[in-house]
Amino acid sequence: MTRSLPPRVEAAFWFSATALGYYLLASLSLYATKGADNIAAIWPPSGYFLALLLLMPSHARLPSFAAMAAASLAANMMAGSPLWTSAAFSLANGAEAAIALWVLRRREAGELSFMVPRSVGNFCVAALSASTVSAAIAWALTGGSADFFLSWLTTVGLGMLIVTPPIIMLARLAESKALRNMPLAMRIEATVILTLAALVTTASFSQSQFPVTFIPCVAVVAAAYRLGPFGAAAGMLVVAIIASLLTGQGHGPIAGIDAAPKMKVFFLQFYLLTLLGTVLPLAALLVVRQRLSRRLEQSNRWLLQAEAAALVGHWRVDLVRWTIHWSDQAYRIHGLDPGTEMSIEGSLDLYMPGDGTRLRQTLEDAVRDGVPFEYHGQVIRPHDDEIRDIVSHGSIEFSRSGRPVGIFGTIQDITETVDNARALEAARNSAEEAANTDLLTGLPNRRHTLAFLERALIGARDNGAPLAVAIFDIDHFKRINDSYGHAVGDVVIRRVGQRAEASLRDEDMVGRFGGEEFVCVFQRSSAQAAEIVAERVRKAIEAEDRSADGPARVTVSIGLAVYAGEASVEDLLHRADEALYRAKREGRNRLRMAA
Ligand code: GH3
Ligand code: MG
Ligand code: MG
Repeated sequence: MTRSLPPRVEAAFWFSATALGYYLLASLSLYATKGADNIAAIWPPSGYFLALLLLMPSHARLPSFAAMAAASLAANMMAGSPLWTSAAFSLANGAEAAIALWVLRRREAGELSFMVPRSVGNFCVAALSASTVSAAIAWALTGGSADFFLSWLTTVGLGMLIVTPPIIMLARLAESKALRNMPLAMRIEATVILTLAALVTTASFSQSQFPVTFIPCVAVVAAAYRLGPFGAAAGMLVVAIIASLLTGQGHGPIAGIDAAPKMKVFFLQFYLLTLLGTVLPLAALLVVRQRLSRRLEQSNRWLLQAEAAALVGHWRVDLVRWTIHWSDQAYRIHGLDPGTEMSIEGSLDLYMPGDGTRLRQTLEDAVRDGVPFEYHGQVIRPHDDEIRDIVSHGSIEFSRSGRPVGIFGTIQDITETVDNARALEAARNSAEEAANTDLLTGLPNRRHTLAFLERALIGARDNGAPLAVAIFDIDHFKRINDSYGHAVGDVVIRRVGQRAEASLRDEDMVGRFGGEEFVCVFQRSSAQAAEIVAERVRKAIEAEDRSADGPARVTVSIGLAVYAGEASVEDLLHRADEALYRAKREGRNRLRMAA
């Protein structure tokens, strides 16, 4: 506050503020309480001096104590107290400030803040300890009664409890520039509320016909509610000053009580203490609530940011009210604007037709069994009909009595992951197909044919089902190559493969085994049936209408072997090969069964 000043000037500033303020407040309090037998209800100078001590730097404190002592002595003597009594009072008031400072330093690590409920508690402890010590000193030095002790204690205690907080809060507000940056509406509201509190208190305490001391309480509670701890402190100060002044001058419901003056003062003090005890906890709770709601708001913001970054939303079905809640990201995943009105039925309608029914069933099962679930499905975004893959994880919420009351879950957009997995699967499939397919004919290649035959042989051995294999080879193919060229030879190989495949049954397979040689596998087929189909292949190739730029006729020779318990594919193929060789030798364009 005064940190920019040189230390001597700074100390001088605090010295003057203490001396002048203390003298004025003390004189005013003594003057105002004259009418009520010189008994004050509250002693504001104590609160004022403590506030200054808490605000000033430590090097300015010692001179300020001297200023306070001088001001107190002067004010008391001017009000008519003898020197000894005035000195005793000044010593008690000085000691109380020192005690309050000491207690606060022991209990408070940093700067005292009235925004922290714990610090408010520490301040109350400091004020009560200080006023007790102060009352004891004044009582001992002046030889007062028990009433005197009690009256001094409450008067000084109230002075500190009511006057210190608003001064410190105002000073901190001014220092932090928060006052300058305060929105106009808030300033107007603060002014209106505090003015109303002043008006209401004046009205209540300037008449004694109606006992309406409760009305200012409403104003102070309203100030605490709307303006927080500062409103509570400032409201208290306003009520305390006006109520004490008017009561001291013999006005208002308390002055009008038919009792001894000291009882009226006690009543006023009790009234102010009750008000303080109501409003301070309320203000502290409000601060806690505000802080909690700020923290909640912040963590909610972080949650939403995390959800947006991770493309994960959350949702909750209220099974009691039968409503659904979505987080912003859940709305975005469904292609809807956050906050759009949504019903449970409406949300299920956003899924692909079968998926919606399946999701409903999943939810019903989860509620019935009470177990967590995982659901994969597709939603259709209503605005652009875009289909998104989603995964939801959910679990059931139960009431204390074990009844399911809600379903809470997350929803994640996994379209990219699913697309990548599909592309990977497709690439894997086509790579596998390429590795198994013969480029020229598009038929299974040698590797695939052998693997197929291997499985067929194992099946035949295990199940006892019949199996036959045929090898066929184009007759005089060298001549075709020689006469028409390699390219035409390739075309012939491809056509022969196609004709063979077209002549087979669905359950048979044909592969290119190498060069112009093919292998057919007949599974679960009797020897006769295999022979008929193989013969059909031969005839189909022989019968094909040839184009003008190739050989007029292409024929194949076929060797057919029926599985007879061979140990390996090679053995079976060897027998078929021998039969093929026989077919070639016996004139070609014919089929021979292996022995
Ligand atoms: P045979 O009736 O005894 O079978 O007589 P052939 O002339 O058909 O004799 P062989 O089966 O031994 O001939 C195979 C020929 O096929 C040898 C090779 O030049 C040719 N050939 C092998 N692979 C291909 C190919 O991919 N394209 C072409 N155009 N010719 C091939
Ligand atoms: Mg050959
Ligand atoms: Mg040949």
